[in-house]
Amino acid sequence: MTRPVRVRFAPSPTGPLHIGGVRTALYNFLFARQRGGKMILRIEDTDSQRFVPGAEEYILESLKWCGIEIDEGVGVGGPHAPYRQSERREIYLKYATQLVEAGWAYYAFDSAEELDALRKQYEAEGKTFAYNYEVRSELATSLKLPKEEVEERIARGDQWVIRFKMPENEMVKMHDLIRGDVEMNTSTLDDKVLYKSADQLPTYHLANIVDDHLMEISHVIRGEEWLPSLPLHYLLYRAFGWTDSQPEFAHLPLLLKPTGGGKLSKRDGDKMGFPVFPLFWKSPSTGETAHGYREDGYFPEAFINMLALLGWNPGTEQELFTMPELIEAFSLDRVSKSGARFQPDKAKWFNAQYLHRKSAEELAVIYQPILKAHGIEATDEVAGKAASIMKERATLIGDLWELTSFFFVAPTEYEEKQAKKYWKGDNPRILKEVREVLASIDDFSLENTEKIVHDWIQEKGYGMGQVMNTLRLALVGAGKGPGMYDVTAFIGKEECLKRIDHLFATLTPAE
Ligand code: GLU
Repeated sequence: MTRPVRVRFAPSPTGPLHIGGVRTALYNFLFARQRGGKMILRIEDTDSQRFVPGAEEYILESLKWCGIEIDEGVGVGGPHAPYRQSERREIYLKYATQLVEAGWAYYAFDSAEELDALRKQYEAEGKTFAYNYEVRSELATSLKLPKEEVEERIARGDQWVIRFKMPENEMVKMHDLIRGDVEMNTSTLDDKVLYKSADQLPTYHLANIVDDHLMEISHVIRGEEWLPSLPLHYLLYRAFGWTDSQPEFAHLPLLLKPTGGGKLSKRDGDKMGFPVFPLFWKSPSTGETAHGYREDGYFPEAFINMLALLGWNPGTEQELFTMPELIEAFSLDRVSKSGARFQPDKAKWFNAQYLHRKSAEELAVIYQPILKAHGIEATDEVAGKAASIMKERATLIGDLWELTSFFFVAPTEYEEKQAKKYWKGDNPRILKEVREVLASIDDFSLENTEKIVHDWIQEKGYGMGQVMNTLRLALVGAGKGPGMYDVTAFIGKEECLKRIDHLFATLTPAE
């Protein structure tokens, strides 16, 4: 019988969720949905020193914005609740002591100062200190000290940790769904701390394995930075006697800098002007802020589409995928082993594709809040129409205002270059005549106005470009904008005449 698919996204609330983390969540979600499985959200907050207030809320909000739905976990509940590790603290000690009793782990009483001194001493001798099979028998551990002394130290409240007793010189053979077979010699690994008496909390390794087991996780899909921990995790499953039900593992490639070398960092984003976080973030301790895709005007669908293709490819030319399409097409087989280079321009490209495909109704919903922020009251129809006319030139949602503001606000100043070029010679006189023509039109629809003005210009033998650009100066105040008749039809006759009059009243022609 095949096992039900249960995957988990298990972030630590140590700061804003990086886009690499969002991609991990996304791949877990796609995998779960495709296989009819469950997506679990577990918050791994056992490292109290690195806990950042607000980070968990940020994670939940980010997943929601992205459309990554959680079936079980923090914020949702479920049969294995609680899903926040700090609320499961009683569970772990039992498992840690079970390993000690079985000889897979031991108590260690070294203080931080003692370990520091050892490290320094090794350094002075040009060596690196590792807490491992070579040194463990010399240190203050339950392997060396008599049983009574160990019990006495624990009873009197000395601080201790439980460390995993990494076997010496054993080849651990592992399998990764993306990388295939991997092996590692245990002599290269140290004795990781599993539990600390100081805060009565497990470390990541113990809590993670125990919870994956208890929560019946079938597949662990996580970032490549956890691959070096895989041998320990395999050995922990063995030590607990859980090998038969151990999950399958898939380690996702790193997200690399746009320049290729190295892991994508916040600094790269700051330097090159793109966000590395899904949402805006303000650090509660330093007040430092970071850009987010949401606030920078990206659509969640575009953001997700872009992330899906960073490290996975569908094996076809298709680039645009809806979430249901991603769920259908995704496979771990097509996730690459090598790092995926992040391309900020590609993120913009995806956003533009989604923006250009929005209907006037959808655009109205997106654009109304921006209009309101600029003090503009408009009907949905008008808002949607303005955005539709200009959407092809926009990349981000925020571009819309810059591109369409003249539909709503008459120019009060005139672009110097444009004014110099057109507000001179015969043009003011001709614009007066244009004003008369416009004033005489009853049906001010785009087509009708265009036909009448166009025919009139030809009849008069005026230069089309000169007339149109002078009119543009009056109506838009600059050289930008859509076709002139889009503007006339949008703002209407009265407003056109008013804007023309304003140009005459405020700007003296150059000659
Ligand atoms: N808490 C770990 C992290 O923050 C989870 C790693 C894992 O998925 O095993 O990435």
